Amino acid sequence: MKKIGSMLIGAHRALKLSKYVAAGAAAFAFGHGAFAAEAKIPVVAAENFYGDVVQQLGGDRVDVTSILSNPDQDPHLFEASPKTARALQHASLVVYNGADYDPWMAKLLAASKGTQRTTIVAADLTGKKSGDNPHLWYDPATMPKVARAVSEALIAADPAHKSAYDANLAKFLDSLKPIDAKIAELHGRYAGVPVTATEPVFGYMSDAVGLTMRNQRFQLAAMNDTEASAADIAAFERDLRDKRVRVLIYNSQATEALTQRMLKLAQQSQVPTLSVTETQPAGKTYQTWMLSQLDALGTALAAGDAKAAASGTKGKTQ
Ligand SMILES: [Zn+2]
Repeated sequence: MKKIGSMLIGAHRALKLSKYVAAGAAAFAFGHGAFAAEAKIPVVAAENFYGDVVQQLGGDRVDVTSILSNPDQDPHLFEASPKTARALQHASLVVYNGADYDPWMAKLLAASKGTQRTTIVAADLTGKKSGDNPHLWYDPATMPKVARAVSEALIAADPAHKSAYDANLAKFLDSLKPIDAKIAELHGRYAGVPVTATEPVFGYMSDAVGLTMRNQRFQLAAMNDTEASAADIAAFERDLRDKRVRVLIYNSQATEALTQRMLKLAQQSQVPTLSVTETQPAGKTYQTWMLSQLDALGTALAAGDAKAAASGTKGKTQ
C-alpha cells in the first residue's frame, strides 16, 4: 500500500488546481435544455456520499454514478480512468468535493469544457480552499448547503417536478436532525476532552463535538503522505502511553505503517479507538453512516472516560 502510494500522486498533494476549481464553479449555471418527460437526469458524483444525497433528492428522476465508492480503497490514491471521463461526458449535473481532495475531477472537467452541465463544488459552497482540511462531508454544515444547491440544480433541469424535489429536500434536511441532536448530546458531555487521530478525516466532526484534537501536525503529514517529524511521532506516542488522550481516531482506509503502529500502541495502552472511513460504506446512507460513527464515538469516549476515572483513583491512592 505504502509502496503504491509513493508512486502515485496523493489527492491532497498541493496541486495547483485552484483555477480549475474556479472554472468549475463558474459553470454553476442553470438553464440547459429541458429533459424529455421520462429521461432521467444523468449525474456524476466524485464521492459516493454526495451521490447518495443526490439520489435521495432526485429519487427516480436521477441516474447517479459515483466515482469513489469503495471503502476498502484509499481515495487519496485514486486516479481517474477513461471510464471516469466517459461517465462525465454524459453528465448534466456534476458534484464533487474540491479543496484538492479530488483534483482529478477538476482536471477532467477542464478537459471537456464547453459541455452544458451544472457543477456543484462542496468547497465553494462552504468557503473552503486548497490547504484546508478537505474532509468537508464530516462538517455538519456542509450537506445542507450541498443539498440546497443540488435541489436547485435539479429543479432548473426538470422544473415540471419541482414539488417533488422540494418535498425531497425538506425530507432530507429533516433527516439530518438526529445527527445534530447526537452532536449536541456529545458536546454537552465531552466538550474539551482531549483526543487524537492518525489523520484529519474526522476533524470537522470532532470540532463540532467540541473535542480537543491533539497531534495535528502528525495528522497533516499522514494525509499528505509526507514524513512526520521524529518529535511529532514521539509526542503522539507519549499521548497514547501516558493516556493523555481519551480516544484514538483512525482512518481504516489509510493503512500506512505509522498508522498501524499508533493503533497498536493505543491498544497496548488501553486507549479506546474509533475507526472511521472516508468513503460511505455499502448499505448505509449518509445519515446512518454519520450516526453510526457518532454512536461509536460516544461508546469510545465513555470507555475512555471510565478508564480516566479509574486511573485517576489509582493515582490518588499511590
Ligand atoms: Zn483523507
